[in-house]
Amino acid sequence: MAQKVLEINGLTTGFLAEKEIVKATDRVNLQLEKGKTLCLVGESGSGKSVTSLAIMRLIEFSGGRILEGSIAFQKQDLAKKTQEEMLHIRGNKIAMIFQDPMTALNPVFTVGEQIAESLRLHQGMKKEKAWTEAIKLLRLVGIPSPELRVKQYPHELSGGMCQRVVIAIALACRPDVLIADEPTTALDVTVQAQILDLLRSLQKEIGMSILLITHDMGVAAEMADRIAVMYAGAIVEEGDATAIFDKPSHPYTTGLLQSIPGLEGERGHELYTIAGTIPPLSALPSGCRFHPRCPHVMDKCRAVSPPSMTVGDRHTSACWLYEEGERA
Ligand code: SF4
Repeated sequence: MAQKVLEINGLTTGFLAEKEIVKATDRVNLQLEKGKTLCLVGESGSGKSVTSLAIMRLIEFSGGRILEGSIAFQKQDLAKKTQEEMLHIRGNKIAMIFQDPMTALNPVFTVGEQIAESLRLHQGMKKEKAWTEAIKLLRLVGIPSPELRVKQYPHELSGGMCQRVVIAIALACRPDVLIADEPTTALDVTVQAQILDLLRSLQKEIGMSILLITHDMGVAAEMADRIAVMYAGAIVEEGDATAIFDKPSHPYTTGLLQSIPGLEGERGHELYTIAGTIPPLSALPSGCRFHPRCPHVMDKCRAVSPPSMTVGDRHTSACWLYEEGERA
């Protein structure tokens, strides 16, 4: 079995809202294997980004906190680390890139200064060496004329180029894990494909593991080795990417797949939309949290929350349809 670099168990997070804690994620279990890509998918508001912020322990800076659970990384529990200890892990062993490269970069420093800063901070490199390394990194992420670009400011580069710079900063310390939160959503389609290609080739070269957060099943189809589907703060299905695309088990996953234009739409089918909206986490329905939107809802679903059940080889689904005897 592949080596696990990150193992999340029972991760429950919450935010304080009007004197009470509202859960943002509920007993999330995830495993990221060495050199592989795990895609965390779901609609916006499902808790994907909160999960990534919790792993990085950035959740505290947005008013949230970890309520329960563990985040095992290199025999340490990140959930128990102090913020000072996290400074040695964040950006060094685990790096993160976000949706909008323009807000991730500082407009008053050149891109070279920003890459070099990360190298000086985490690797103790001297100024000159860090500058030479910054040029190498720009070349690695496919930026032409890196010797010239290194002296430019973010506003002098396109959105796609800026995201390449952000990736260069993230890779400066050769992290074991890269968390990419909707890294291509702000970019146009052609640039999106180039950035995904870049992430794949860098993954091969560096051997890092990627936790890719996306609402786009098309992106997940291209990138994922494994997929975890999140709905209203909980993982509802998890498994090998091929198994999930070939034989999705949870009705929510089926709905997500049927709403991809490239899959059903291009064959002339009408695009499916999942009825209803994701519930606010402060007012989850009883029983299965997906039941008000589910075309297969049964009485039991309204009353009791389904546990995660095995539906195949390393493939689980939190749905009563898979209780023994319910469905072949
Ligand atoms: Fe639908 Fe019931 Fe399965 Fe929930 S448990 S997804 S309501 S069939």
